[in-house]
Amino acid sequence: MEIDWVLAGKVIWALCLATWAVIRWVPNRRARKVKIAKTTRTPSERLAMVLSSLGLGVIPAIWVFTGEPSALDHATNPVLVIIGLVIFLASLRLFRITHKALGAMWSHSLDLRENHKLVTQGIYERVRHPMYSAFWLWAVAQPFLLSNWIAGFSGILGFGALFFMRLGQEERMMEERFGQDYRDYCARTKRIIPSIW
Ligand code: SAH
Repeated sequence: MEIDWVLAGKVIWALCLATWAVIRWVPNRRARKVKIAKTTRTPSERLAMVLSSLGLGVIPAIWVFTGEPSALDHATNPVLVIIGLVIFLASLRLFRITHKALGAMWSHSLDLRENHKLVTQGIYERVRHPMYSAFWLWAVAQPFLLSNWIAGFSGILGFGALFFMRLGQEERMMEERFGQDYRDYCARTKRIIPSIW
């Protein structure tokens, strides 16, 4: 039987996206019960969230389900698709670990919850933005899985925009709230890649 690897990449991408939504659903319901004490959702933060959703969700979904823009399709092969699958699975595993560690402190934007606790244990001992590491893995998996230049690379551009627009704001917000504790935490951790950056 001949396997259609273009289709295989699309199916894997869609299944991984669905799995991610399930991983997020339970923490999302729990976190919503804990009141937000302070939010820093600036206009640039809102724009960043739109760009990220377009790049990791809307644009690839349009290509997966309609085949457009087909003029920018390219060839694929089993090696690329399997590499994409392995990277996306690693990303999903990291999402689960980070959601468990953050618990009700999680929020999809720049919010501080009532009685917000600084999490520095478990995966947060190794890097201070492991959930963003997970999003980067997803963004990198996407061009391996989706054999279209736009659908493939939109995730790196979209999430990259969110990451670089948000990181400084998030760290400032955490420093304002936790002061020296957060500065100490930053001094002993890297951002997204253990021991490197
Ligand atoms: N940047 C983190 C968290 C992403 S979720 C990561 O990549 O893993 C974003 C929210 O998490 C922020 O609004 C902030 O309130 C909260 N947050 C970020 N780092 C945290 C930490 N170390 N402890 C507790 N909450 C944190």
